[in-house]
Amino acid sequence: MIIARAWQAGNALVLACLSRSSPETFYPVLVRQVRDHLEVEHICPSRNECWHVREAARLYREWRWWEPVPERVVAVRRPVVLRPDWVEIPVPGTVPEEIEKVLSA
Ligand SMILES: [Zn+2]
Repeated sequence: MIIARAWQAGNALVLACLSRSSPETFYPVLVRQVRDHLEVEHICPSRNECWHVREAARLYREWRWWEPVPERVVAVRRPVVLRPDWVEIPVPGTVPEEIEKVLSA
């Protein structure tokens, strides 16, 4: 499971999923809460099982750990185009490198 980077886009979380076959390519996946469900948007490059939706929903829950997040997840086939006004954040559930250095010092 390789999530390279993450951004906050308003209420949405955007994840850069690395391609397993070509590690220099990544696919943006956007996840946000819409009323009573989570919506995961991306154009899936995978012809087999798509792990992006499941992983995006899991990371969204981790990101919003302090509040209840709906169980239902709906996948939407829509391209996600990265925008410069999105704020880069640490990938949820990971410890940023700088903090890791301090902790292990
Ligand atoms: Zn996918």
